[in-house]
Amino acid sequence: MKIFGLEARKPFPAKVTVDINTQCNAKCVICPYPQIRTELKHGVMEWGLYQKITDDYANICYSNRIMGELSYCNMSEPTLVPNLPEFIKYARDKGCFTIYFNTNGSNLKPKLIDTFIKEKTYPAIHLNIMVFSEERYQKIMGLDFDLLKENLQYLLKKYPHSLIDIGFFTPLMTADEVGAAKEFFKNTKAVLHLAKDISDRASNVYLPQGLASAGIPKPKKRLLACSKNRPIHRMHINYDGRAYLCDQDMRLETDFGNVRDNTIEEVWNGKKIMDALDIIYGKSDAGEERLPCFKCEYSVDDENIKILKGPSDYKPRKLFGPLKRWVVKKGWAVIKKRGRLALS
Ligand code: SF4
Repeated sequence: MKIFGLEARKPFPAKVTVDINTQCNAKCVICPYPQIRTELKHGVMEWGLYQKITDDYANICYSNRIMGELSYCNMSEPTLVPNLPEFIKYARDKGCFTIYFNTNGSNLKPKLIDTFIKEKTYPAIHLNIMVFSEERYQKIMGLDFDLLKENLQYLLKKYPHSLIDIGFFTPLMTADEVGAAKEFFKNTKAVLHLAKDISDRASNVYLPQGLASAGIPKPKKRLLACSKNRPIHRMHINYDGRAYLCDQDMRLETDFGNVRDNTIEEVWNGKKIMDALDIIYGKSDAGEERLPCFKCEYSVDDENIKILKGPSDYKPRKLFGPLKRWVVKKGWAVIKKRGRLALS
């Protein structure tokens, strides 16, 4: 599929996120989950469905000679799935994916870490712990800070640091917490992310006042692009096999078909997803279709089209500075000379 004249979207996804479950044990103030959990149907992905998805995706990777990326989960906490190591081992044995999972860390117990090490599956672990003090961690995430620290200490002692990525939200952190986190992680080689922007997840979460760093996006009338290009590379699959738009679609407003009944490629190239892409990338009007993009800060419309014009922000390379000055100087000399000649 061509987008802005480029062959941008391949007929298969480069990355797949699988929600192997739907439950989460945290109550984060910046996540829609506590507000919308009663609206969603919950469950754990059936093993047969997971095997089908993984086999399908492995076929794609082998036949297109790519290294895929398989990750868990968008909204839920995957460590609550008792046989998470089995899910990861099945995917790891395919030999064609990088694998990571997102976690709040509260259930990332030593036994689970030991299993990854014993089975040599070594998934990358993306921890999101936001703040770093007992009182505020409890208040902002609704979890036990001491338990988190115990789990973190074990993880950092036993697990390769190159596979650990820890995210904080600087708008939520106090100066004391920054100091405490620096002290706690001073010898680590794990990647520490200090995120500055807090998204309201396409207006799916009512952020506490002052936290919407990108501002509350006003609804858009006509779309021109997704600045993150999310629907171009990644496929999101709910626990029941339903494919949905992206990680902002936490209310599951979209339904692009089910990978239980179809292959990943059939859904990826299906009419429903193509129609949505036509709307997102400005090829057609939305009509009755209301995609989450219309309330998402990452979508681009006429008013913020400039964020797609990256090259205009490029600074000229310094190498050309002296050359440019020489050309300008010479140019003036020629113009002056010609001017004099013309006058004479
Ligand atoms: S614009 Fe927002 S909601 Fe739409 S695809 Fe991109 S990230 Fe998802």
